[in-house]
Amino acid sequence: MPHTVTLIPGDGIGPEVAEATVRAVEATGVAIGWERVELTRVVLDQCRGEIPQAVLDSLARTRVGLKGPVTTAVAAGFPSVNVVLRKRLDLFANVRPVRMLPGLKTRYRDTHIDLIIFRENTEDLYAGIEHEVVKDVVTSLKVITRMASERIARYTFAYARRVGRKKVTAVHKANIMKLSDGLFLRCARQVAREYPEIEYKELIVDNACMQLVMRPEQFDSLLMPNLYGDIISDLSAGLVGGLGLVPGANFGAEHAVFEAVHGSAPDIAGKGIANPTALMQSSVLMLEHLGESDAAKRLQSAIERVYTEGKNLTQDVGGTSSTGQFTDAVLQAL
Ligand code: NAD
Repeated sequence: MPHTVTLIPGDGIGPEVAEATVRAVEATGVAIGWERVELTRVVLDQCRGEIPQAVLDSLARTRVGLKGPVTTAVAAGFPSVNVVLRKRLDLFANVRPVRMLPGLKTRYRDTHIDLIIFRENTEDLYAGIEHEVVKDVVTSLKVITRMASERIARYTFAYARRVGRKKVTAVHKANIMKLSDGLFLRCARQVAREYPEIEYKELIVDNACMQLVMRPEQFDSLLMPNLYGDIISDLSAGLVGGLGLVPGANFGAEHAVFEAVHGSAPDIAGKGIANPTALMQSSVLMLEHLGESDAAKRLQSAIERVYTEGKNLTQDVGGTSSTGQFTDAVLQAL
């Protein structure tokens, strides 16, 4: 029985890395019927910021999406479509595994980095409740609820138990935001007690950033509210060679949407040099989710073989190859 997946190429480098990833997934031999839908900044402007019904209808049918990045206007325009989509589908858990690929010559090449970021995906400052009280005085509401905090904590610990992870570190700023981050922490502590075999730690977010840069090998699973999760994802990507590499998944009770950590990279869009590894590794997570573990393993090994050989890498990781040449090498390795 073939799978059906909603494919959202997005904009910027999105279509380039999506095309590369579709080629790689198809080369595994897994039969996937792609429902291709358009979700770009231009489409959103035409729809006055609403997600087109065709996108929602397709995801309602398939329940699984593979998504490229979509550009959001800065300091103006409509709310981020990425945030809106995560809220509409209640994709509450953003899971981002950060691992060093073999053979990559990064600053941390001799350090064992293998951590997973668990980011609450539906609230915090991303609730988008902003208000100009009087001219030049603006407030932005940080929303933290017990329901969402317990849900992401429970998801994190259950995931850690399932895959045999040993430690969860909750990241917070509850020394300053005593009520909001305080509630998030209380929920994390309460859930942690249900998982006595998993070590539980807490770190204030500024210290967590320093520790990540100084001694990333000490981290295993990181649990955090939305904003810190967003920022620490990019910081962690920097540890293992950059945004071109790190995959991600958004999980809800009903749906799962797989997308890279990176954005639409307008500085390199259309040049054929984007690194598709991040979306390809997201598709490995998707194949696992679809129950295609063997294909997932084969695609992951093929990607790793290309990195080990080091001959067909893109510019962001020190190579000279194009998106297409890297993808050809992955297909060859498969
Ligand atoms: P970005 O992630 O697009 O790019 C940051 C830097 O990393 C750039 O120098 C870019 O060239 C590089 N980079 C990113 N992905 C790469 C890849 N695959 N290969 C090689 N280099 C890569 O971040 P930004 O520039 O801050 O944001 C651009 C736009 O993307 C903004 O509109 C933002 O809102 C949007 N965005 C979307 C998503 C999403 O759709 N999930 C996520 C983050 C940002």
